[in-house]
Amino acid sequence: MKQHLRIKLHQTLHSGTEKDSDPELVRRTYMLNGFLLLSAFICALMAVLKHTESFTVLKGILWCSAGAYCVLYFFLRTSGMLKVASDFALALTVTLGVLLIWRLNDQIAYILWLFALPPAAFFTFGTKRAAVALGLLLIALLLSPFVSPAAMPPETFSLSYFVRVIAAFFTLSLFSALGEYSRAHTQRTLVALTREMEQCACTDPLTGLLNRRGIYDRLNEERARATRSGSTFSVILCDVDHFKNVNDCFGHQCGDHVLHQLAEHFRRSVRGQDVVCRWGGEEFLFILPETDEQGALNLAEKLRSTVEQTPVNYHGMPIDITLSLGVQECTLTESTEFHIRVADQKLYIAKEHGRNKVVSGNIEELMPQELIA
Ligand code: GH3
Ligand code: MG
Ligand code: MG
Repeated sequence: MKQHLRIKLHQTLHSGTEKDSDPELVRRTYMLNGFLLLSAFICALMAVLKHTESFTVLKGILWCSAGAYCVLYFFLRTSGMLKVASDFALALTVTLGVLLIWRLNDQIAYILWLFALPPAAFFTFGTKRAAVALGLLLIALLLSPFVSPAAMPPETFSLSYFVRVIAAFFTLSLFSALGEYSRAHTQRTLVALTREMEQCACTDPLTGLLNRRGIYDRLNEERARATRSGSTFSVILCDVDHFKNVNDCFGHQCGDHVLHQLAEHFRRSVRGQDVVCRWGGEEFLFILPETDEQGALNLAEKLRSTVEQTPVNYHGMPIDITLSLGVQECTLTESTEFHIRVADQKLYIAKEHGRNKVVSGNIEELMPQELIA
């Protein structure tokens, strides 16, 4: 029962947030739903408590406001248009506040409800909008002795009391603004930190390329895009030949430098939409959107020959590097993992055939049937 109630409350407050993945927009929608429902309830309650009185204008305004808050709640729930619903809710609240301040009622106690507004307004509508709305209400409060002097009978309303009401309202607004500012600042810092950590977790520190963890997200995105558009994409798996010799002959630092330089070269050699990833130690994976096997083969051949012809410079020392590459077009009938395995088998064939080679084409014709993935 308790669980059921909790789920119902969650659904009520979260309605209209389904289309948003931005946590800040979800929070705002959540707050606005709560604000609208609570305001509708308070207005209806006030109207009911006034049922014995003959002041029908005030009762009418309260019932209309309760109805308007409910309409806005259902509007937000069905359309998800947070900004429009926020603007209307704020305009409605300010109008109702001004009317109550200017004594469409005969009790100063109504002003007390204004004190519920600053925290709710700042948390629901954000600093700027809430500041404007509360500024308008403050002006209405300051003007109230002139607008409706009859509503200030000396027995209930002294000047010092009036000044204290304004000072208290102003102070509460200020603290609420500070609270919201600090909440929003902390939230922004947390979001930025989370993004940075997510990026670090997916980036290889030596080369700055995507690491294996980030590759799968990218591959899934590419597959989804290819499915939508009906286009094709290809992958190239690339391995540095005899890289162990570089480490053994020139040291590990030199090996790191070579990997870094190669990554830079690869990054510069591909199109903007292509992705280069560090697949493993001295292995790189290229994801090439909207590219068939022939296009991928052309790029692989270009990479192979430029790397072969351009030794990496390490403190003035030329280090000769060659690459072996396996090229595979990714059809949607097989999984991406399958295609990467096939690219790896082609890379293996390139190694077997003397390295410094690109292998592409039908794997069944390249390899004995029993060894195919
Ligand atoms: P093959 O042509 O068969 O690929 O031979 P290889 O020597 O390139 O391959 P092998 O798998 O025998 O050795 C790979 C080497 O790459 C061994 C490993 O120490 C080195 N390596 C892997 N990651 C790094 C790295 O981040 N920095 C450095 N300096 N070396 C690395
Ligand atoms: Mg290797
Ligand atoms: Mg190697």
